[in-house]
Amino acid sequence: MLFTKVLRSGVLAGLRCQSTSAQASAKFAAATSKPGHGGFSFELTDQQKEFQELSRKFAREEIIPAAPGYDKSGEYPFPLIKRAWELGLINGHIPEDCGGMGLGIFDACIITEELAYGCTGVQTAIEANSLGQMPVIIAGNDAQQKKYLGRMTEEPLMCAYCVTEPGAGSDVAGIMTRAVRKGDDYVINGQKMWITNGGKANWYFLLARTEADPKCPASKAFTGFIVDADTPGLQPGRKELNMGQRCSDTRGITFEDVVVPKENVLIEEGAGFKIAMGAFDKTRPPVAAGATGLAQRALDEATKYALERKTFGRLIAEHQAVSFILAEMAMKVELARMAYQRSAWEVDLGHRNTYYASIAKAFAGDIANQCASDAVQIFGGNGFNSEYPVEKLMRDAKIYQIYEGTAQIQRLIISREHLGKYKQ
Ligand SMILES: Cc1cc2nc3c(=O)[nH]c(=O)nc-3n(C[C@H](O)[C@H](O)[C@H](O)COP(=O)(O)OP(=O)(O)OC[C@H]3O[C@@H](n4cnc5c(N)ncnc54)[C@H](O)[C@@H]3O)c2cc1C
Repeated sequence: MLFTKVLRSGVLAGLRCQSTSAQASAKFAAATSKPGHGGFSFELTDQQKEFQELSRKFAREEIIPAAPGYDKSGEYPFPLIKRAWELGLINGHIPEDCGGMGLGIFDACIITEELAYGCTGVQTAIEANSLGQMPVIIAGNDAQQKKYLGRMTEEPLMCAYCVTEPGAGSDVAGIMTRAVRKGDDYVINGQKMWITNGGKANWYFLLARTEADPKCPASKAFTGFIVDADTPGLQPGRKELNMGQRCSDTRGITFEDVVVPKENVLIEEGAGFKIAMGAFDKTRPPVAAGATGLAQRALDEATKYALERKTFGRLIAEHQAVSFILAEMAMKVELARMAYQRSAWEVDLGHRNTYYASIAKAFAGDIANQCASDAVQIFGGNGFNSEYPVEKLMRDAKIYQIYEGTAQIQRLIISREHLGKYKQ
């Protein structure tokens, strides 16, 4: 299999050796933080640079040319996903003992930013695999990991994170899907909504309520399950027609008397809420990296255009009002990149990074929207037209302020974490 061949050679083998498992990173940090080493570096390792180059080349040579077609047709970009799988640019977090690369979050973010530069619809479809896998990575037992993560290293399969419902998104504790224990099984009934890879997944991480008592705290009321997509009673709905990231597959899913064996419970009954929320500390940094990739693309497109388009006898980049818009965009892109890298670095060292992950996600989501809108402005009338690349960026950017916790929910988390430090 090409994936394995690539893994064993060159870039990926190198990355595997220096993958940022918490222990290895902690040792590295301890070593480099000794006086004289500074303990702080903006320099990527050689292997990280190689991985960045590989994903950049793939994005520019293969994703960018195909992206407008997928945007128009809404077709799922499976050929690109398969190619990313062959190159080892997908499923990077899968542990080595399951056949994966065991990459840290920082390394995955570097790849994600580059893929998003090409097309965030493609990147979201790929990123949804990380989101679906993360509960199994952080809470799955050996058998669950080998069975469900292992198969994803053998063929390019998709999975999904199945939590949101028509009546509850931000308020996760409000979900109504019920799982009732019957002997050695659970029987699941309910309706999920807005599930990325909903119609393409081989299996789902599912959060369902197992405690009937409405007074039971969220930390005990919900259970996390792994559910095979071909289980009878599981029915994905139609593909939703979204504003942007149109080739990503988003669907509602109905669960009608879906029988799941107790072996597919993550950790134990009642542990689901913490697992579902805990995954975000590791998945929000890559979401922020994706938003940063989109913002960088907006900046690059706007800059190239400003250096070609002339008004009043000079390039529009030579009008100070335009060059200052570019300067503001550049400031935002640089800071968003630093924010996602900080949040990824923290979690790779084993630190609790909730505060940094929400700052990165909120900031990068906002600036992706600002930069895309500014790029449209710099393109003038052309910016409003689908023959030019920036109107797609503006449509694609919006979701970064909505999924994986809205811009408002990130601010709730940041303020809670911030105030908590003062109240101790
Ligand atoms: C394209 C797409 C892909 C998605 N992929 C997935 C997926 O793979 N898996 C999954 O489980 N979910 C997924 N989602 C769901 C997504 O995470 C939710 O839409 C999001 O969390 C918001 O929930 P909601 O839509 O119910 O909005 P609501 O929670 O109803 O919020 C509506 C508005 O109220 C604001 N608001 C809510 N509560 C507060 C508060 N306490 N304080 C201040 N403001 C508040 C929100 O910020 C928002 O502006 C996806 C959604 C979309 C659109």
